[in-house]
Amino acid sequence: MSAGRIPPQDGFHMSPEAFRYYGRAVVDWIADYYARVESYPVLSQVAPGEVYRSLPPEPPEHGEGFEAILADIDRLILPGITHWQSPNFFAFFPANTSGPSILGELLAGGLGVQGMLWATSPACTELETRVLDWLIEMLGLPLRFRSDGPGGGVIQDSASSATLCALLAARGRATDPRCSDQGSDGRLVCYASTEAHSSIEKAVRIAGLGRHGLCRIAVDERFAMRPDALAERIAQDRAQGLLPFFVCATIGTTSSNAIDPLPAIGEVCREAGLWLHVDAAMSGTAAICPEYRYLHAGMALAHSYCFNPHKWMFTNFDCDCFYVADRSALIESLSVLPDYLRNRASESGAVFDYRDWQVPLGRRFRALKLWFVIRHYGIEGLRHHIRRHVELAQEFARWVADSTRFELCITPPLNLVCFRHRAGDAFNRELLDRLNGGGRLYLTHTILRNRYTLRLCVGQTYTESRHVQAAWQTIQETAAQLERQRMILGAPRGNRTPNC
Ligand SMILES: *Cc1c(COP(=O)(O)O)cnc(C)c1O
Repeated sequence: MSAGRIPPQDGFHMSPEAFRYYGRAVVDWIADYYARVESYPVLSQVAPGEVYRSLPPEPPEHGEGFEAILADIDRLILPGITHWQSPNFFAFFPANTSGPSILGELLAGGLGVQGMLWATSPACTELETRVLDWLIEMLGLPLRFRSDGPGGGVIQDSASSATLCALLAARGRATDPRCSDQGSDGRLVCYASTEAHSSIEKAVRIAGLGRHGLCRIAVDERFAMRPDALAERIAQDRAQGLLPFFVCATIGTTSSNAIDPLPAIGEVCREAGLWLHVDAAMSGTAAICPEYRYLHAGMALAHSYCFNPHKWMFTNFDCDCFYVADRSALIESLSVLPDYLRNRASESGAVFDYRDWQVPLGRRFRALKLWFVIRHYGIEGLRHHIRRHVELAQEFARWVADSTRFELCITPPLNLVCFRHRAGDAFNRELLDRLNGGGRLYLTHTILRNRYTLRLCVGQTYTESRHVQAAWQTIQETAAQLERQRMILGAPRGNRTPNC
């Protein structure tokens, strides 16, 4: 930190002058962090309990200088950080960010508003409404999600919350939201594919639908939900006296980026009168590019939709955009009005109170960072970087396909590549451990067709060709080392099979 006069305190508070001074130091720290982020091991190498034990057991009786606090970020916290913003982060799905987003977060913190009601900060609500309407056009979503009709969009903390809210709204529509017992009689059934995200199972549990509340539908050879199996199962359940009411389709499953066939699933839902929710957590962002708009084909039949700008659209966690075609179903399910929240604006019916569109009461000013990101990049800039990520992943997939040691487990539709070494599960497991222990990159795994499979997802903001090239180099070298060791040890080579 730059030397200078110690800025004054204001009683126990940080004075505005001190805030200005240390605020600049924090922004400098972040800029420096991005400049050196590649020098850290991507996956934190600390042992369990190490960070906890490094922290003082007692809280401070007397306030400390900010210099000392900031210095401890480097000393105590950084070693325990897994660097999600490293361009060598290829694990899970990304949680990327960008300069304009970080600055939007900072401003939201500075304003410190609580946007539970329109009246508690009209700009917090109306900016959100406008930006979510923009995104409908940007992603080619159906116009019935727009706020100027019966639908509307709202920012949730996560796709998990969006899916829970969709499920509650759907239950409200299928039963009567005022009869709270109806949901727990064990007859309501939701449907999602065997590859759908764990958040659906969690939502079903939170909603109290019971052990049989979620039915997993079989997938095809590309891990996408089979609409025929869905239709069959709905008919069977109906015949048994159950109440099918909700289907969650996925655009880009977390395991393999599978894309459920929305047009056919939408038809099944329409005929059976079921609510269709579409979870496009990461891959929805791709639809900003006209060539990936096909991902949203069939969306006209969906009742709700969500995607996460906090995964692949350069916006800090947390930010999930959730849309409903009929907001009244959502609001009726979630609105509880105590007298102390009554106000003239709400009663006029001319405003949105987003507290009625989500589980918590309070809400942060998240639209600010999203607005900054969209204005900074423009549609053009976002398209450019999304295309680049897809190209880099596709290039990696070609290297895998051309190699004799490795094989692709599925043709990658976008920015996620699922691949494996041909030497079998134990080898791949050991390979992944070594790669992540080496610190030069971070990958995670999945299981596809009962086989241990490596995943490489390109989506961190600053990932460039050289990072993906270096990753492939490291993967090949580490595999070659492991092969040699196994030969020396005479370990079995595992099955060599042409396909996963
Ligand atoms: C990541 C992911 C989720 C969960 O996202 P959160 O915003 O962390 O709740 C849900 N669905 C899919 C398909 C995902 O990839």
